[in-house]
Amino acid sequence: MSQALALYQLQEIELGILRCQKRLSEIAAALEDNQAVAEARARLEAAQKTLTPLHTRARNLELEIQSNADKIRATDERLYSGSVRNPKELQDMQQEIQALKRRNAELEDTLLEMMLAVEEAEAALASARADLQQITGDWETQNQNLLDEQARLKADETRLAEQRRQALSHISAEDLKLYNALKPRRHNQPVAVLDGDTCAACGVEQTMAIISDLDRGVSLVKCMSCGRILVRKPGKA
Ligand SMILES: [Zn+2]
Repeated sequence: MSQALALYQLQEIELGILRCQKRLSEIAAALEDNQAVAEARARLEAAQKTLTPLHTRARNLELEIQSNADKIRATDERLYSGSVRNPKELQDMQQEIQALKRRNAELEDTLLEMMLAVEEAEAALASARADLQQITGDWETQNQNLLDEQARLKADETRLAEQRRQALSHISAEDLKLYNALKPRRHNQPVAVLDGDTCAACGVEQTMAIISDLDRGVSLVKCMSCGRILVRKPGKA
């Protein structure tokens, strides 16, 4: 294998590692971002917050109605027991009973409205709960896909790291130094394929002398324009 080809293979492996790393960081970010689930949970909490005070108010109305009914019964019993004879007192008791009955009629109307509101709030809560379940389910499925992809990419990364180690064993320290020096200035692609007589990286046509050097196997011929190390495409003549 020519030195240029060994460097080209190293470059392809390293680009593969970079692609893995890029996708792995995207996946890590996606796994962090579960906004849809958080929003559905917030809607459920809001529905619960609406329902709780309605329940409390309905319960309080029931208690007040019950208490008034008890008072009506007790006053009624006293009224007909014969123990009270004073006409003014008897009249007051009758008026009190009437007042309590009117009050309870009002309270029962309010309670009915409250029960309807409770029903509505309970339906909203059930719907929010179903939404959360659906969204959480979707999230978990998506999550699983991402976790599967993450596992595949990590295996790829390990395999590529081993390939890189082997590729490096074919490369001299001097060549590697040149390769590493070019790498940051050439977007991680210090090696370019010669496509016909054109550098595939920068698109500049090379001189006959350069092509001749490359075809004669002169060590590390560089593109006259971008300075990348030129290589004939592996597998091609
Ligand atoms: Zn070039």
